[in-house]
Amino acid sequence: MEYLKKAAKTAATGERDVRDTVQAILDEIEAGGEDAARAYAAKFDKYEGEIVVGAEARAAAADKVSDKLKDDIRFARDNVRRFAEAQRDALVDTEYEVLPGLIAGQKQIPVSAAGCYAPGGRYSHVASAIMTVTTAKVAGVGHVSACSPPRDADGMHPAVLYALDACGADTILNLGGVQGIAAMTFGLFGTPPARVLAGPGNQFVAEAKRILFGRVGIDMFAGPTESMVIADASADPEVVAADLVGQAEHGYNSPVWLISTDRALAEEVARLVPKQIADLPGLNRENAEKAWDEYGEIILCDGRDEAVRVSDEYASEHLQIQADDLDWWLANLSNYGSLFLGEETTVAYGDKVSGPNHVLPTKGAAHYTGGLSVGKFIKTVTWQKSTREANRDIAQACARISRLEGMEGHARTADIRLAKYFPGENFD
Ligand code: NAD
Repeated sequence: MEYLKKAAKTAATGERDVRDTVQAILDEIEAGGEDAARAYAAKFDKYEGEIVVGAEARAAAADKVSDKLKDDIRFARDNVRRFAEAQRDALVDTEYEVLPGLIAGQKQIPVSAAGCYAPGGRYSHVASAIMTVTTAKVAGVGHVSACSPPRDADGMHPAVLYALDACGADTILNLGGVQGIAAMTFGLFGTPPARVLAGPGNQFVAEAKRILFGRVGIDMFAGPTESMVIADASADPEVVAADLVGQAEHGYNSPVWLISTDRALAEEVARLVPKQIADLPGLNRENAEKAWDEYGEIILCDGRDEAVRVSDEYASEHLQIQADDLDWWLANLSNYGSLFLGEETTVAYGDKVSGPNHVLPTKGAAHYTGGLSVGKFIKTVTWQKSTREANRDIAQACARISRLEGMEGHARTADIRLAKYFPGENFD
């Protein structure tokens, strides 16, 4: 393995400062409630309008969105919904007779309330609104709150608001960043306290969710977007470069990595990426330039087995394969948030419209989790039920293990049943 370009920074750069900032904001909002959340909306987003979006504002936003874009939003929502429904159908209630007379089972129960975050600082993340709220609704969550940063005096972008509404959000808040996450978790502005928080965001949003985890469930650690392309000699360098540049525009700290098994391809992509970046419009160019200069990497691997090993170590959020024998890659790769197989299936399709969720693990979290799915809003809980006869074996074993552990009270809950159900029998 050889680095043709190595990153100067990693996704962990600056983590401690972010943690301190976020903890201080959370503490202030927990103590100061809605007024403190409003103050942060004014400070970070220069917003002093209504926080809770009412029916009139929802209708006004719909009027501002073109019919074609509404169709596109519904197209994306329906694809996300269909995929989420298939996931939900795979989560089933089951029961099993563990031993004669003892039945145990598991049930799938949606959480009562969820908070969905649709980012909105740099871009207007309509797709995140669709991905989070649609999935929570399909899961059967009782109350779905959603928030997104206000972008002007009227609040959030009308298309984001339209999408949140069209996907069924029960409460919508004009709040971004830590203040949005805090409001949904602490139950401010009339929202029931969220039991699960979902949605991507910048480093402040991701850190707020991480700090609050435990008190509230979170979908996963979904911070600044990262993307990897694995390409062999069969790949088209123009398309590979476009896919890297397309993902680098997410943000100044969004890493993009190329693994290539072919030196000529890698060198050509290295030449094309800065050229394509220079051709992007203003903010997109600035983001992509920084992301590529500081976080971008090109790694040359000696064959596809080594490429798999390196890729699995990075555990990229998005992983795209532009190489021969796609089935081999699907069978052999293990660590990624979502896999895009072949030139015909670019990451942007998954980001926006195709169905599998775009809220995905970053910073190596793909070593232990996949992306947002209905299962993140549903608890798998267990139950058990036994007959009196089954108590004969269970109670004796329970009492002995409890006593060995020194837990006399536990042992006696078994003893009392043995004495009651089997009077006159001796169970030493
Ligand atoms: P955002 O909505 O996440 O953040 C905007 C908010 O950040 C503002 O409302 C403000 O309150 C807060 N903020 C700004 N500066 C701050 C500071 N100094 N201190 C505290 N809070 C501050 O929007 P964004 O910034 O555009 O970031 C969106 C992120 O979402 C990007 O990093 C993108 O890569 C990521 N993303 C990730 C996925 C995924 O699945 N992992 C998907 C889509 C987007």
